[in-house]
Amino acid sequence: MAKIFIDPGHGGTDPGAVGNGLQEKNVNLQIALRVRDILLNEYDNVTVRMSRTGDQTVSLGQRTNAANSWGADYFLSIHINAGGGTGFESFIYPGVGAPTTTYRNHVHDQIINRVDFTDRGKKTANFHVLRESNMPAVLTENGFIDRAADANKLKTPSFIEALARGHAVGVARAFNLPPKSGGTTLYKVQIGAFSIRANAEAMAADARSKGFSPYIAFTGGLYKVQLGAFSVRANAEALAQQARAAGYSPIIVQE
Ligand SMILES: [Zn+2]
Repeated sequence: MAKIFIDPGHGGTDPGAVGNGLQEKNVNLQIALRVRDILLNEYDNVTVRMSRTGDQTVSLGQRTNAANSWGADYFLSIHINAGGGTGFESFIYPGVGAPTTTYRNHVHDQIINRVDFTDRGKKTANFHVLRESNMPAVLTENGFIDRAADANKLKTPSFIEALARGHAVGVARAFNLPPKSGGTTLYKVQIGAFSIRANAEAMAADARSKGFSPYIAFTGGLYKVQLGAFSVRANAEALAQQARAAGYSPIIVQE
């Protein structure tokens, strides 16, 4: 089971870089939540924790402490750049070798393959989250918030999706995660299905506020809000019971 720690940079009182009507903390979180959902929804043998799932203030030390105490296998930190440049770049700690270098190559290449950002290169930096994390770590800088052309891309949902998918597929390749196959029946607890993504996100946020760990699956033209996937039906029924107690009308779907 690969333990992936996803770190949306900044948050709360720290907006990160700002420009063109965007705050870095919000874009980082958008990308990070989708990376988590894609990993959990589309791959097996993976578990995810995040440094924050909302607009919380989290110190750099808290981020690396959380990943270290969990014993994460990978630290994935997501940021947006500023300072007048344009394009995408990624960072690892100076002087580290494999597997950090190969993991980074997967993540970097999968992102660059999916988005029309200039490739600024595979770089090194003495950043806190790279230095103080006990496991391989990468930090991505996804465009420049103060460059109108980059910011306009970051305002486009399909572009955010492509960035997130690049991160997720890169992690999946790095850790050889098996795609969820039709071979094993999974019982999924679903609390809603929507044609409009924002509606699914609103329900997911509500479920999160009630202590669930929802993710959004896009299948059959619908955004489906699901709470968990189980190979044993009784486990799905137990979670569905909790969802009913919380006011939802869950159904169990087999995929
Ligand atoms: Zn940042």
